[in-house]
Amino acid sequence: VKPASKPKASKTDNKAGTDSLEYSELCDVFDKIEGISGRLEIQAIVTDLVRKQIDEGNADSLFERLRDLTYLLCNQVAPACDNVELGVGDAILIKAISDAYGTQKAIVKQKYEAEGDLGSVAQSSKKKQKTLGSFFTSNTVTKPLTCHEVLQTLKRIAQTSGKDSQKIKTDSIKKMLVKVTQGKESQAKFIIRALQGRLRIGLAESTVLKSLAHALALSVPPKAKDAMKAIKGESNEDYPSEVKEYLLKKSAKDKKGMLAAAEDIIKKAYSEVPSFDKLVEAALTVPLQELHKECTLTPGIPVVPMLAKPTKSVQEVLKRLNGQRFTLEYKYDGERAQVHILQDGKSKVFSRNLLDTSEKYPEATKYVEEAADDSVKSCVLDTEVVAYDQKKDKLVPFQVLSTRKKTEDSADTATVQVIVQAFDLMYLNGESLLSKTLQQRRDLMYKHFSPVTGKFCFAVSLDYEEDGDSSRIEEFLDQAIKGQCEGLMVKALDGDNGYEPSKRTFNWLKLKKDYLEGMGDTFDLVPIGAFYGKGKRTGFYGAYLLACYDPETEEFQSVCKIGTGFSDEDLKSLAESLNEHKIPQKTSQYNVSDQLECDVWFDAVQVWEAKAADLSKSSAHRGAIGKIEEGRGIGLRFPRFERLRDDKKPDQATTAAQVLEMYYNQDTVNGGDGEASDDE
Ligand code: ATP
Repeated sequence: VKPASKPKASKTDNKAGTDSLEYSELCDVFDKIEGISGRLEIQAIVTDLVRKQIDEGNADSLFERLRDLTYLLCNQVAPACDNVELGVGDAILIKAISDAYGTQKAIVKQKYEAEGDLGSVAQSSKKKQKTLGSFFTSNTVTKPLTCHEVLQTLKRIAQTSGKDSQKIKTDSIKKMLVKVTQGKESQAKFIIRALQGRLRIGLAESTVLKSLAHALALSVPPKAKDAMKAIKGESNEDYPSEVKEYLLKKSAKDKKGMLAAAEDIIKKAYSEVPSFDKLVEAALTVPLQELHKECTLTPGIPVVPMLAKPTKSVQEVLKRLNGQRFTLEYKYDGERAQVHILQDGKSKVFSRNLLDTSEKYPEATKYVEEAADDSVKSCVLDTEVVAYDQKKDKLVPFQVLSTRKKTEDSADTATVQVIVQAFDLMYLNGESLLSKTLQQRRDLMYKHFSPVTGKFCFAVSLDYEEDGDSSRIEEFLDQAIKGQCEGLMVKALDGDNGYEPSKRTFNWLKLKKDYLEGMGDTFDLVPIGAFYGKGKRTGFYGAYLLACYDPETEEFQSVCKIGTGFSDEDLKSLAESLNEHKIPQKTSQYNVSDQLECDVWFDAVQVWEAKAADLSKSSAHRGAIGKIEEGRGIGLRFPRFERLRDDKKPDQATTAAQVLEMYYNQDTVNGGDGEASDDE
């Protein structure tokens, strides 16, 4: 067993500690948000809080204050690529509450089972301590908790591992709980919920980003104000479209338009550099219109990957691309790997959800280095790592790749051999290529990289000039499927928008073999509850309740009950892993009708891929509730389990908006001509 590692405090720890926002002030805001369901109202509250930081207080500590605040609002402790995630087990939390407030563990547990929210139990235990006049209270001597202290402690807890880690974690949690002040007991509730990994107040990262954008547009930070004076009078011609829009609306005094454009600026910056440390630092240094220059793709920090829209037929592909030149590429069935080679010789691999997977695929960077010519000093490639049989020179199904260990030493000792299939080049020798067309990016990729047998290949592709003959697409799709691929990716070659991080637009389409079976795509859903099995399934769960995710409301909306597609092994392993995340009751973030009372509820921790025959309006399910008919949602019909998606987090599950879009795209709904929005 590794000895417990207690991470060191960061350099900025002391500086910000002194004038950091009191944690109770933030909890007052959380409490207010918890009682509100309107997204715009929530956004306005968060905007005010951020503006207060900018307008008041010491300018020297503004960066630390704002950074700490953004992380706590999103319930994160570090950028995703640092692989530091919150999620402390109930047993540790129960012990810490019991130790801090002198309530017996059994009673804390009992109350948790009855109330379903350990956060509220902590809050009421703290209150009770007051009424009993307990000697455990140390409020008179301790300083109030600050946001800085809470964030640093949460981070240390998330990073602590190995022997003795349970004790270290319990002690750190207890220390925070003890500092909770009388009359401000909701601090205890939010500390516990934060540690569980979910604040349950309906505050999504997208709302925090919008609020940050509004705040920065309305309250320009001091340094950025100075920088703005310096650039006054310069030409705006080279500005990206969202910046031009922002400046236009600003000079026209169109506040609403200006705020909407500010949102686009922040969203774009964050999708290119998804780190609040970097974003806040840049936003405090330059005005919004200059942010794109500071927040550009940087090797070592992953870009949020570009995504594809599903399509259901070759005809739909042709219609969507409407006369544009496009390329068809094999859609490989492996794991997305963004490979970064840094100038200093270091290298990194990042997953679809921005986690650092360098230890899982140590050979990926080596293969890219072998494939690169001598002129390549730094680069970022978008690739798919696929399981590969060296002897037979054949791709191997994803199921095999999913057995690969999280840490491997080298290709020689790895449990599963892989090959890198490259399909895009986003950065080369100090220059971001994101604004270039796919044709230009791909030309550079072909010029500077070469296939290496059994290690590195380019995605097999076929460029298509519209000539009305769709049979070539059908044949290519057949060929891809025979070659162990999921189908095709179809990409516009000359699209003006370049590589669009995080966006799902019609410039990238996916045509999966599933379209032959009805729906154009599978769904990635979150198991939130289960029903006990009967007969052969006694001892396991007979069916699960799956939900899509609505990022606007941070809600998991039930879309189907699923009981087929599971192997015996799946039934066993899924039940085992989910049983560790049982919760006594459904949470307020679960939108489930009373008709669907599960025997067991789970925290939202996994994502499962499922197929369905079609989507239909439903009184029982709540997908995109109210969007097609008052009080009714959308449900999946004849769902079938496909696989566990451990490369996705619950908040990256299929969204309510996607469910709605797929519902309208069904032939049965409107002849297959449903117009869908270009962006999510
Ligand atoms: P999404 O990412 O769209 O939410 P998903 O993660 O289920 O859904 P898919 O719908 O299967 O992914 O399609 C996109 C994924 O396909 C990419 O994230 C990438 O991992 C994989 N892929 C395989 N081949 C290619 C290719 N040639 N171009 C782009 N992506 C590819």
